[in-house]
Amino acid sequence: MRILGDQRRSRVTVRTVGAIRCGLVDAARIHWPLVERGGRSWKSADTPIAPDGRAEVGVNWLCIAGPEATILVDPVSWKEPVQVDEGASDLYPMISLSRALNRLGVEPSAVTHVILTHWHIDHLAGLIDSDGNPCFPAATHYFPAADWQPLVEAVADASEEQILSAMRAVDAAGQLVLTEGDLEISEEVTIHWTGGETPGHQVVHVVSDEDEAIYLGDLVHFPNEISEPSWVAVEWRNDPELRAAREYWLGHAATRAAHVAFTHGRAPAWGCIEAEGGRFSWRYDEEPHRA
Ligand SMILES: [Zn+2]
Repeated sequence: MRILGDQRRSRVTVRTVGAIRCGLVDAARIHWPLVERGGRSWKSADTPIAPDGRAEVGVNWLCIAGPEATILVDPVSWKEPVQVDEGASDLYPMISLSRALNRLGVEPSAVTHVILTHWHIDHLAGLIDSDGNPCFPAATHYFPAADWQPLVEAVADASEEQILSAMRAVDAAGQLVLTEGDLEISEEVTIHWTGGETPGHQVVHVVSDEDEAIYLGDLVHFPNEISEPSWVAVEWRNDPELRAAREYWLGHAATRAAHVAFTHGRAPAWGCIEAEGGRFSWRYDEEPHRA
């Protein structure tokens, strides 16, 4: 396991996992109000605070490039700032999909698989181009079957209608596969169902030559949920499913000294899970970038 070069100023941070190159892309920042749930704050000592007083969280997607497959997990792109969370939060784009792929040395036509961790719109904003055609014409797209109905039910919101249209365009091109349970995508990459964040939420596990990387998606949103896996910062989640999946994956990551990222970590978002005295803690590999 090794860390490549000084990429502190880059929006793309690469980790080498055996024969696989895992590039984490700093796609956007979200300024969130400092919500509390259950009397706890998700703001930890290392949470960057924006000038407007809201905390800044990231939106990070993953490129997994290996000898057999080029896999994108939750690839997203925005042209301009947008409001999210019914106007409570603002999302600011950092690097577009096309520029990120350019830096990764990946042609869109060479992408073999796209894995979508769950139905939320901040994970599905990079699937079709301005003409409505799939961005990755050769890729099979994997989306959790259990999240299809929640996505359809969310279309009352105009922005989510666009997302459903994108999914339907991918499906019409014969490129959509609905997943249930765990699925091996290549020799090194496996999708694992967790539920919790949404009924079908899934994480991505990379194993190559004894090295491992784990993309947790939204299994946690904040480091405080790693030190307190029973605490769920966001409302309307399946808390028991989250707790069970966190205990398993945090324990696995700590035991295997895996490279770990979660979608909304601040950039650069790679880190690791440490276990001591029966408790987990999160450690970022690098100091934060500033927007
Ligand atoms: Zn999310």
